[in-house]
Amino acid sequence: ELRSWQQRLRAQFPILADPDQAAYLDNAATSQKPQAVLDATTAYLSTTNANAGRGSYTWANRTTELVERTRDRIKNMLDDPSPESSHVLLTSGATEALRTVARDWLPLHLRDGDEIVVPFADHQANILPWQETQDLLARQGVRVRLRPMPYQLSSGDYDHRALAAAVGPRTRFVAVTHVHHVYGADMNIHRIRQAVGPDAVICLDASQSIGHQPVSVTDLDVDFVAFSGHKALALPGTGALWSRQVRGPRFRPQGWSGTPNTAGAVSLLAALDWLHDAGIDRIERWTTALALRLTDALSRLDAFHVLGCQLSLDTASATQRRQSIVTFRHRSLTSSDLGFVLFSHGFMVRSDNHCQGSAGEKTGSVRVSTHVYNTPEEIDRLVGVLASLG
Ligand code: PMP
Repeated sequence: ELRSWQQRLRAQFPILADPDQAAYLDNAATSQKPQAVLDATTAYLSTTNANAGRGSYTWANRTTELVERTRDRIKNMLDDPSPESSHVLLTSGATEALRTVARDWLPLHLRDGDEIVVPFADHQANILPWQETQDLLARQGVRVRLRPMPYQLSSGDYDHRALAAAVGPRTRFVAVTHVHHVYGADMNIHRIRQAVGPDAVICLDASQSIGHQPVSVTDLDVDFVAFSGHKALALPGTGALWSRQVRGPRFRPQGWSGTPNTAGAVSLLAALDWLHDAGIDRIERWTTALALRLTDALSRLDAFHVLGCQLSLDTASATQRRQSIVTFRHRSLTSSDLGFVLFSHGFMVRSDNHCQGSAGEKTGSVRVSTHVYNTPEEIDRLVGVLASLG
């Protein structure tokens, strides 16, 4: 039943129609687009295109309404408990969303001697903005200390106990990642909240979880959520920053002073509707099973080492912990050689450094990341090729 559901969904991606095409397994970088997203975008551009938030004619009003609907849709997807006071800024991606927090909100919130926690082994988009804010404030005489988020790579998660010991009364802000873009670990955000207490502001980078699993701000009790639309089936150059108005000073990010990416917003609305209709729980079950199928096979190939949490199909809790991403290295091939070999055998994967921060894995590795259109047959074919490289 899951299989026929998946086949129906896969058939909706025109870029995957050619059976001789290499398998696309680089979804953590960006996703492919279903026909519904392409159609909604084309229909908007060919019938309604105008600037938003201005004008007194139908196209302009309709455009404004579509952009507002996209923001409402995002609140709804995030299970927002107070949509009347929260805010959604549409951005070009997660990078811009995180940068907006660092540039427009953080300086207002921090005082001399405050501390913020930075996840130095995560994506650089979730490291560099906080360092830049620290530099900026230092030039104004405000000293902010960056504390490294502790990791426990054996479990693939942050080290919540070490974090609880490290935070103090001056810890105001904690940047975290929901699903790690290299290790595929689904971080336990509840335990982050427990570790830092009720008053610290938590900013969640949900780039690798939106579109792959349910993300509820009510459940997670976070204050900011940044994500990429383009990794969640929408057009390139889309993303968002959700913010709640509970902790800290009011924040109304300036998202409307220029011309917004209206077609991108329409594509994001269509993508989120598509994901909702497909069923996010089923998508999670599907991609998690593919990732586990791959880690399980790799654990039996001596030449390969899987990075991060070592989960296999027989780990009881595995399906809650490993998401759609598996990163591994070969004992002698470099990451770019392995990437090249895999492409020559019909697989598009990510090689090189994965934009990971300074505390991250230094050795080159290859990342395989799945989405709902990927299949167990693709994974089995990949495993067959990897086994021949032993
Ligand atoms: N954070 C994480 C965890 C990511 O994986 C990525 C993209 N690789 C980003 C941030 C940056 O996202 P964007 O390309 O949308 O700016």
